[in-house]
Amino acid sequence: MAKRDYYDVLGVPKNASDDDIKKAYRKLAMKHHPDRNQGDDAKKAEEKFKEAKEAYEMLSDAQKRAAYDQFGHAGVDPSMGGGRGGPGPEGFGGFAEAFGDIFGDIFGGAGGGRRGGGGQQVYRGSDLSYAMEITLEEAAGGKDTQIRIPSWDHCDTCNGTGAKPGTSAKTCPSCNGAGTVHLRQGFFSIQQTCPHCRGSGKIIPDPCTTCNGAGKVKRQKTLEVKIPAGINEGMRIRSAGNGEPGTNGGPPGDLYIEIRIKQHEIFERDGDDLHCTVPVGLTLAALGGAIEVPTLAGKAEIDLPEGTQHGKTFRLRGKGIKGIRSSYPGDLYCHITVETPVKLTEHQRKLLKELEESFRKGGDKHSPNAKSWTDRVKDLFK
Ligand SMILES: [Zn+2]
Ligand SMILES: [Zn+2]
Repeated sequence: MAKRDYYDVLGVPKNASDDDIKKAYRKLAMKHHPDRNQGDDAKKAEEKFKEAKEAYEMLSDAQKRAAYDQFGHAGVDPSMGGGRGGPGPEGFGGFAEAFGDIFGDIFGGAGGGRRGGGGQQVYRGSDLSYAMEITLEEAAGGKDTQIRIPSWDHCDTCNGTGAKPGTSAKTCPSCNGAGTVHLRQGFFSIQQTCPHCRGSGKIIPDPCTTCNGAGKVKRQKTLEVKIPAGINEGMRIRSAGNGEPGTNGGPPGDLYIEIRIKQHEIFERDGDDLHCTVPVGLTLAALGGAIEVPTLAGKAEIDLPEGTQHGKTFRLRGKGIKGIRSSYPGDLYCHITVETPVKLTEHQRKLLKELEESFRKGGDKHSPNAKSWTDRVKDLFK
């Protein structure tokens, strides 16, 4: 049978790049993978694969490709192949290699596991997460507290074996106690965690009723937690080894305490800074005077200058929060809102009308924003 042109085999043009050649080969390798070609197709697929592999080995080697381009099949002889091995049964060492990055998940094994001394899969326990809600004051000042977390104790009923007293665990018949099984997939043999015993190598025909065969029972335990001052929303405190226990002697996971900060009635936090809104009466804003403002550490005073406008912000240095990694505390920003008086008495209404009359006489000078605003509106309708 005449040999097909290597470029035709891979379905690439003569000037294809190395990358194109590799891609085309991978595509063919996937298509003719033994997993996808069972029964009668298997033989044909194997032939196709060998053909593609040979073409790839020739064209991916710059020297061989040059010889092939010049002399055709006469220029290269796959049976004289180098170290990679020509087509044929032994050449299939390259198959797994070719698939390594395509089916990496299959060849990568069950993941996370490590072989323990007893031939069983050893797994680290899962991490646990605990959401803790604290107040802003607690976040700012830190807090020593306790939490109740799940813990696992050795089951006393079965003495940790998981088997009903008087019975015992048996070697898993599927894997003969190895904890892993080999699955044949076409040309390969793949090692997998035994699905029957889940890698423990043992099965328990009569499970202990106290622990349902787990050999351990879930309890609660109290854990002391130190919340550092300055902690912020979403930060996590790691408590090593307080997660779920490992399997077959594997190390336990960790516990992560995730901080949630309750909304504060007065303050809003922005990093290390705090913000609050301070309502001030109309007359006080106009006349000026001392006002009391809250801080996390108690009260402070601001001297409002005469004619304080609505929206004016006063910064109180160092009255914010000292973050965990900060050298200095942040600032407190007090945002002034000027309140318009409501529920006026007749007398107050009269006074305000008089005041309004007086302002009118003074013109724009009493309304610093109105003047420029009126001008801007005028410009708009010009
Ligand atoms: Zn038990
Ligand atoms: Zn097994």
